[in-house]
Amino acid sequence: MIDKLLEQNKAWATLRVAEDPDFFKRQLGGQKPHVLWIGCSDSRVPAEQVLGCGPGELFIHRNVANIVAYNDINIASVIQYAVHHLKIPDVIVCGHYGCGGVAAACNDKLVEGYIGDWLMICGTARRTVEDRLAREGKELPHDDYLRLVVEENVRSQVKHLANLTVVRRAWEHNPRMPRLHGWAYDIATGLISVLVDGRQPADGKAKHPPLRGPHQPTRMKKAKR
Ligand code: ZN
Repeated sequence: MIDKLLEQNKAWATLRVAEDPDFFKRQLGGQKPHVLWIGCSDSRVPAEQVLGCGPGELFIHRNVANIVAYNDINIASVIQYAVHHLKIPDVIVCGHYGCGGVAAACNDKLVEGYIGDWLMICGTARRTVEDRLAREGKELPHDDYLRLVVEENVRSQVKHLANLTVVRRAWEHNPRMPRLHGWAYDIATGLISVLVDGRQPADGKAKHPPLRGPHQPTRMKKAKR
């Protein structure tokens, strides 16, 4: 398998140069990606392929069940670099139907080790969906229920994103950047559904709560006088 991958790499690089002799020279000039993609590690959801993008277009973070965890310095540093240094205007959290991580989080059987601890973060989405179904007196086939949890998990992770200090700091400078999007990719069709549409903020002003606490910047304090 490894030999095959290295052969495929050579063939890919050769083809790129044949199609466009300056392709790799341009890559040396630096990156200006348009999008930060936060997706699941699942091999069936390769960000570049499903969006028809190539090298240099997407800044990517993937983990099990596309989770934005508050105490994860890995994702926080990715977001900080994407938003504050690369000035990426759009951040997409993309979940996918058929997500094994979400399915495991919805299983009453305890998942051992790190994976179980990590998937506890999906518990909010699970509870939200189960509470809603109970209120409505609905009982769905298991796959349909899992699809709802996948969608709710995306919404929940977009909310986490909106609460991160690095994102709220960016909104102090420009309330419209970054725009946050929540998507669900369907591995059965290859198509994406928009769950949270960052292109259409519900309210152009006062959308984001100001930061509170000891890190409140001087600029905001002055405005209150
Ligand atoms: Zn997944």
